[in-house]
Amino acid sequence: MDIEKEKNDWSDEELEAAVEGYLKMLAIEKSDQKLNKAHENRLLREGVLMNRSRVSIEYRMRNISTVLHDLCLPYIVGYLPAKHLGAGVTQRVRAAMIAKGAFDPDDYAPTANDQTLNTKVQKLEQREFIGIPRGIDKPQRLNGTISTFFRDPLVKTWVLKEANGVCEGCGQDAPFKQANGSHFLELHHVKHLADLGSDRPSNAVALCPNCHRRCHYSSDRDEFTASLYTKVKRLKPE
Ligand SMILES: [Zn+2]
Ligand SMILES: [Zn+2]
Repeated sequence: MDIEKEKNDWSDEELEAAVEGYLKMLAIEKSDQKLNKAHENRLLREGVLMNRSRVSIEYRMRNISTVLHDLCLPYIVGYLPAKHLGAGVTQRVRAAMIAKGAFDPDDYAPTANDQTLNTKVQKLEQREFIGIPRGIDKPQRLNGTISTFFRDPLVKTWVLKEANGVCEGCGQDAPFKQANGSHFLELHHVKHLADLGSDRPSNAVALCPNCHRRCHYSSDRDEFTASLYTKVKRLKPE
């Protein structure tokens, strides 16, 4: 059967039924009950998805895993994220997931506002985090500014989690905790965004305010910046 060809034929109703089935299975898996995928697949084919094959439903489930994987959300282990998803399909699967309340798209929208970014990060910090966010290769500049960029809340959340309250520049504990109890560290882009650096985990570090200022203003900023690449293994020079 030609799955690729069939892809566009799914109606919104069918996509939403698939999402509903997926979320049910995810809940079963999370609760440590035994998940019988074949059984759930059959149930779907007895309902809205009566015109779909077992294989094509499974492929759709993998599409859903892809969207969750890209948001670093837990996905069903038995449905590996499908690669080579067309942008159009991704958008439609995403829309069906939003319609079914799988996630709030607002939490993940890049923002150029520091305060909004921090609010998003504080919310994302509360949830389970799977994998490493992809981030943004070429962050967009806020119109009319030279140094304000739209940044990915997932990247900041992940880097802060990774640092776990310890400055990645000097190895010291964060200087204080914030009102919500999380450690205060700042996100620094090793190749600055203004120099067309990416907003990706491989270009971002969590620093204490001293180390952060040191990167921007000190006489040894180039040496200090170079030392970050040695200290933080995930960093890649851009
Ligand atoms: Zn430091
Ligand atoms: Zn900085």
